[in-house]
Amino acid sequence: MDLREHVRGIPDFPKPGILFYDISTLLRHGPAWRTAMARLAALIAPYRPDLLAGIESRGFLVAAPLALELGLGFVMLRKPRKLPGLTLGLNYALEYGTDRIEMQADAVQPGQRVILLDDLLATGGTMAAGIALLRQAGAEVPAAAALIELTFLGGRQRLDVPFESLLAYE
Ligand code: 5GP
Repeated sequence: MDLREHVRGIPDFPKPGILFYDISTLLRHGPAWRTAMARLAALIAPYRPDLLAGIESRGFLVAAPLALELGLGFVMLRKPRKLPGLTLGLNYALEYGTDRIEMQADAVQPGQRVILLDDLLATGGTMAAGIALLRQAGAEVPAAAALIELTFLGGRQRLDVPFESLLAYE
């Protein structure tokens, strides 16, 4: 199955000049979503993860089904002030301004191997911040992965772990 047929590019979203890769069409096609998850599971299983983490919100749609597929637990990296209890957080730079992600302080046991997932890697800023936060929580991060990678933005060069993706756009 060619998964590219299930991802559409929407021009000028969220701003003029940006081509947004929309995964809603993949998610609403059962066999395509299932195929994507099976292929991604095969790519990340060799890294022997103990847990999978996903970045709010589309990263959850990748990480949670993959965790089920691999029989692993799932951890949420969320926007600020969404998680109850003691949290750890990290601020990171955006093109304009800053953003912050948080996770529960007790989500990971020291030394657990946690693979971080998102729907798409663009500049890599979000993924790099997520990896740093997981390490702050005591995790080892053997790899990161996403459905889609925008190779022209060089995101994977910003990561200090192996990165896997199913679809690359140039
Ligand atoms: P980065 O931090 O790598 O520049 O941006 C990646 C983050 O922005 C991801 O969390 C991803 O969900 C979101 N993102 C940026 N561009 C796109 C896009 O074209 N399509 C989708 N689905 N998400 C995008």
